[in-house]
Amino acid sequence: MEDCIFCKIIEGKIPSAKIYEDDRVICFLDIMPANKGHCLVIPKNHSKDLSDMKDEDAEAAIKVAKRVSKALSLSLGCQGFNLVMSNGLEAGQVVFHSHLHIVPRFKDDGLKIKWSHTKYKDGEMKEYAEKVKKFL
Ligand code: 5GP
Ligand code: ZN
Repeated sequence: MEDCIFCKIIEGKIPSAKIYEDDRVICFLDIMPANKGHCLVIPKNHSKDLSDMKDEDAEAAIKVAKRVSKALSLSLGCQGFNLVMSNGLEAGQVVFHSHLHIVPRFKDDGLKIKWSHTKYKDGEMKEYAEKVKKFL
């Protein structure tokens, strides 16, 4: 898609530190990493977010994320990783070409990828479950 920075990376018009590529997916290092080794896994077909993504692309991307996460652990020795996907402006998405972040995590790395918590009133939890279920 024109004017999409990640489409330009896929086309090779913008350089990237690519670590994986197949017919559907590429994976490259994030230019502003939360930790060194922070990767982005993106489907080659342009979609703006998860709800816009073809099932085949979503399946391919998660499989690559799984494979890359193992490679991060073996190569960098991270003890864990966060798999993060922001969908929509309100969720903090900045680049509107679907992407999964894989952030390698190390003991005491000081990174904070946590949210605060809210509470349901009595009976409200069930109401929410029922409300959402109707649209599946
Ligand atoms: P979002 O906030 O949309 O979930 O994440 C977008 C990510 O893309 C950011 O972490 C940002 O550092 C990364 N990014 C933006 N532009 C470029 C670029 O030109 N090259 C690379 N490698 N990463 C980019
Ligand atoms: Zn794109």
